[in-house]
Amino acid sequence: MSLAENLAKIKCALQQPNRPILLAVSKRVPASAIREAYALELRHFGENYLQEALEKQDELRDLEDICWHFIGRIQRNKTHEIARHFTWVESVDRLLIAQRLNSARQEASTPLNVLIEVAVSSEDSKGGCPPAQLATLAEGIQKLPFLRLRGLMALVHPDPDQANANFQQMHSLFNTLLQSGNHPDLDTLSMGTSSDFLQALEHGATEIRLGTLLFGSRHREAT
Ligand SMILES: *Cc1c(COP(=O)(O)O)cnc(C)c1O
Repeated sequence: MSLAENLAKIKCALQQPNRPILLAVSKRVPASAIREAYALELRHFGENYLQEALEKQDELRDLEDICWHFIGRIQRNKTHEIARHFTWVESVDRLLIAQRLNSARQEASTPLNVLIEVAVSSEDSKGGCPPAQLATLAEGIQKLPFLRLRGLMALVHPDPDQANANFQQMHSLFNTLLQSGNHPDLDTLSMGTSSDFLQALEHGATEIRLGTLLFGSRHREAT
């Protein structure tokens, strides 16, 4: 399957009234494939590993309106570079990281768009803010002038029934934040990957993050 064929299939699912955004997850994918995806009009790309991302960004710097999202674990000593080289950071899960991103973003002309990653799946060993601490973290981020809180992100359980419960919980956490009226820029619920994006869309995802389904399977990932 070519990238164009893969994309054509996915695009049908995206024909929804809320116009969900397709984030192309390009970890372990060479810059040439990102360029090909860009030629097919994709603009949002997600990267997990800073060094790998910086190399590809450099190779692709002629693609002016490309929009890079950082979706990986954030080490505190990497916050400065992440804040400078990305438009979105989707994996903020504690205030310390948010504060560091905020101070690193001061010199930029626009605030950094951030999502809070929420740990809704018991399997998610990769981090995320516990649901019970979400409101407090959101309040904290809201006060940081160089960050713009845009929404929530999650990885869900691989089992479809548990995933369903996770998606539902995310939808309701998102609605609760919206209804608090304290977060005027909230518009993004990022959930759903190659294996579960249709289910995520049914539960109100405004952004899905697809890697394998677009680019094919990656080499075994480093952990
Ligand atoms: C790798 C990754 C994805 C994409 O997963 P696929 O199964 O390849 O679609 C989405 N979100 C995050 C946070 C990831 O790390």
